[in-house]
Amino acid sequence: MAAPNILAILFSIAVSAIAIGILCYPFFVNWQRDRLMRQPFPRAWLNIVQNNLAIYICLSPEQQKQLQGYIQVFLKEKQFIGCLGLQITEEIKVTIAAIACLLLFGDRKTFFPNLQSILVYPTAYIVNEMVMNSYVVEERRVARLGESWTRDQLVLSWEQVQQDILNWHDGHNVVLHEFAHQLDQEDGKAEGVPILPRAMDYAAWAKVMTAEYLQLRDRLETDKKTIIDSYGATNPAEFFAVATETFFEKPKQLNQKHQDLYELLQRYYHLDPLQWQD
Ligand SMILES: [Zn+2]
Repeated sequence: MAAPNILAILFSIAVSAIAIGILCYPFFVNWQRDRLMRQPFPRAWLNIVQNNLAIYICLSPEQQKQLQGYIQVFLKEKQFIGCLGLQITEEIKVTIAAIACLLLFGDRKTFFPNLQSILVYPTAYIVNEMVMNSYVVEERRVARLGESWTRDQLVLSWEQVQQDILNWHDGHNVVLHEFAHQLDQEDGKAEGVPILPRAMDYAAWAKVMTAEYLQLRDRLETDKKTIIDSYGATNPAEFFAVATETFFEKPKQLNQKHQDLYELLQRYYHLDPLQWQD
């Protein structure tokens, strides 16, 4: 009865090979990413980054090198899809990648793992949205500038991205906003709490974020001025995305009025935009 034994051996070899493949896959991905990050950064891409990312010049040479590496991996792994006739150009891809990859400093090498494709519309796009209105569900058409879905797609308006490039210090940036949602959703939940490096960090995160979120809601209810955009008061997930925009674009004001929040985001993003002020 040799045949069953051979089958059993072949079966166990196949199972072992699959198990080894599964175990080795993350190492292979990391090896491939490290290789990509060391590749020379194309001159044409560098011109785009220098032209479209105002704060690039403020990064240290080491940070610039790191960002270039992140962009190389991002562009290799993510697919761009032009919508309503928009032709995806190098400028569109490199610009979006450069802004998004600002969120990856600090050894956050997961590269937005849930995200596969970025859909880019030429301008604001119209979606049908279901809204609850006095116990009646109504469908209405609304214009959107960007959105990040828990599944594998993110949508952006190129016109809005271009406006954000020109107005870096206005506190609004659709790419930073939508990719902050991606970080938040990495664990499958959109609740304003991204994956943090250490278990003990969650308590500090909850303390600062909850206090700041409630303070924003309070100030809006009493018609007081706020540095953080009122959209952040929608829910904790939006608060994290909007606070991220403020951190990168209005660091001085955020640090002055919300130092705990600034320092929390500084630790999380491993960047100090206060140093970028001219
Ligand atoms: Zn949002």
